[in-house]
Amino acid sequence: MAASSIRTQFNHALQNMIPGLQTMDPPPDVEAADGHPNEDVVIDMPDSEGRFPSSRGGPEGGRRGGGGGGGRGGGASMEEAEAEGDRDQNRGRGSLADTNLSNYLSEGIAELLLFVLILACKLAYDHRLGLTVFLGLIGTFVHHSSSVKREIELKEKRSVLSVVMRLGLLFINIIFIYYALQEQQLYKCLMFLPPNIAVMTLWAVLWCVGITDFVVKYSTLILKCLVTLLPGSVLSFKKRGKIYRALEEISQMYRLLPAFPMWVSYFSDYRESHWAIGYFLTFAYVILKAFTVYRKQKDLRKSLHDVFIDVQYGISPSQDQIRRVGEACPICQDDFQDPIQLACKHIFCENCVAMWFDREQTCPMCRAQIAASPIWKDGSTAMSIQLY
Ligand SMILES: [Zn+2]
Ligand SMILES: [Zn+2]
Repeated sequence: MAASSIRTQFNHALQNMIPGLQTMDPPPDVEAADGHPNEDVVIDMPDSEGRFPSSRGGPEGGRRGGGGGGGRGGGASMEEAEAEGDRDQNRGRGSLADTNLSNYLSEGIAELLLFVLILACKLAYDHRLGLTVFLGLIGTFVHHSSSVKREIELKEKRSVLSVVMRLGLLFINIIFIYYALQEQQLYKCLMFLPPNIAVMTLWAVLWCVGITDFVVKYSTLILKCLVTLLPGSVLSFKKRGKIYRALEEISQMYRLLPAFPMWVSYFSDYRESHWAIGYFLTFAYVILKAFTVYRKQKDLRKSLHDVFIDVQYGISPSQDQIRRVGEACPICQDDFQDPIQLACKHIFCENCVAMWFDREQTCPMCRAQIAASPIWKDGSTAMSIQLY
């Protein structure tokens, strides 16, 4: 009797401390040693406040345990009213608890963000040399990329001297990077070989991958400069948009590759006893990479296909149709050269409209949708850094 009483008190204490336990079934040994139900040890469901019948007074609990349905009547309606009151109180308490919880969470998130900021400051200071190099590379790339794009947009009016100078600066940039970091032999990453770094930590992998990515982007700008320098008699200006786009897609596909062997060796770098996690991480990375390459190769194939297939934006109009719109092309304000009529019936020189669609998708006169997306045809180069 004494032991079961202690156990009951313990259960009550536990249920009051942990609300989720209140719905647990009573323990099987609530019967006394003589086999009869123990009147003192009634485990009843708590009321809505979490109080147990025994804590509201023994006699009532005993009555409920022993009596049948006879006790119901006026007492039942009072109980219902009491329960309703309890529910109202609970609703108020619930919204208060919600406010407290959201305050607690928002304060917690703010503290976590501050901690991350402090941690970021430490990492930035510890890796200040690497960060400075990357900021320099980003700034130089943005400057070169916008200059090359500006010259490309000038078409035949481009400055050959300016493009040649840009070409020289890009070469010097690449040589300087590999000269300054010659001990690390980072150029090997371009050929998918491991660089001369003893331990490939996470920072070392990010460093090698980032530097290599910038060098490939500089090389892409060099190729675009070379195409821009070609005279119009060798490569007509209306075809150049497709060439720039194909170069950009080839570059983006190639940029996916140098990071691959470095990340594979990083993920699989486990001692014998932990080989399974190494295999798992490498496998997951390879699957992710395969998806990325598959997605990218569709764009690459489309861009290469467009280089070799001459896209016709419209049909040749009759002399009568040309006369009706006037003799001058709305884009160059000059006589029509190889006039072409778009689906919207507007007529332009073939060269004029082909170069227009290197930047736009719609007719210059009526904004009707004519061409597919002109992405990368304007000579722009992706800003993103391919880190994985
Ligand atoms: Zn024209
Ligand atoms: Zn039109």
